[in-house]
Amino acid sequence: MTGANRGIGAAIAQGLAERGMTVVVGARDAASGERTAQRLGGRAVPLDVTDDGSVRDAVAHVQQWYGRLDILVNNAGIAGGGVGQLAGDVDLAVMRTVFDTNLFGVVRLTEAFLPLLRKADGARVINVSSGTGSLTWQSDPGHAFASTGVALAYPASKAALNMLTVLYAKALAADGIAVNAVAPGATATDFTAALGLSLERTAEQGAAIAVHLATVPAGPTGVFLQDDGPVPW
Ligand code: NDP
Repeated sequence: MTGANRGIGAAIAQGLAERGMTVVVGARDAASGERTAQRLGGRAVPLDVTDDGSVRDAVAHVQQWYGRLDILVNNAGIAGGGVGQLAGDVDLAVMRTVFDTNLFGVVRLTEAFLPLLRKADGARVINVSSGTGSLTWQSDPGHAFASTGVALAYPASKAALNMLTVLYAKALAADGIAVNAVAPGATATDFTAALGLSLERTAEQGAAIAVHLATVPAGPTGVFLQDDGPVPW
């Protein structure tokens, strides 16, 4: 899984390990990934989702260690800061960076790991999205998101990720690979702290829906879920 060294990703990794799964901890910082993997009894791979070579190496390691991948958790994500991202003040360079991680990173990982996912029996891809990527919620004047000043890049990248989830779910159904998106909910992590948010929801709570989707027998495909049920696309 990606971004497994801290925040919601570390909590997902912990939840999966506690349920007896072997977790491959993907982390940009190799030392931090190794520490997490040691704690969880898993293995670590240095992994930057924006770097083709890094992704290729990660695939080669998983191929060599296990010969297959049962679950791909695409968790790594960035906000791109708030600067220059409001309507009328968009910095395209920042926007490209956000899309490279939140969207193209997921494509990169999914494409690269597909051969190993196909070797598993009933593999799953879990994309960590965000409720801010819901077109339904964003276009509802009564919803909380509609009244907040939101930098454009992040929700747009997550909306595109949601579309990608639907398309991959359809495309990979014949392979028996389930592809779903989750909304962790507003959670206290470095990500939200950097945005100046003070939140009560813990990383474990934010991770719960991904852990559920990873472990529920005969899970769904092509859905967008939060704790209490589906999120409207
Ligand atoms: P954090 O900032 O705490 O953690 C982000 C993780 O992503 C880190 O492990 C970071 O690695 C990793 N990461 C960032 N860029 C890359 C990259 N290029 N390659 C590999 N790893 C990368 O964020 P959260 O835990 O809060 O967020 C995790 C996911 O949950 C994100 O996709 C976010 O959009 C989503 N989310 C979070 C919400 C919240 O309220 N916190 C709400 C809704 C969705 P490193 O340590 O190297 O920086």
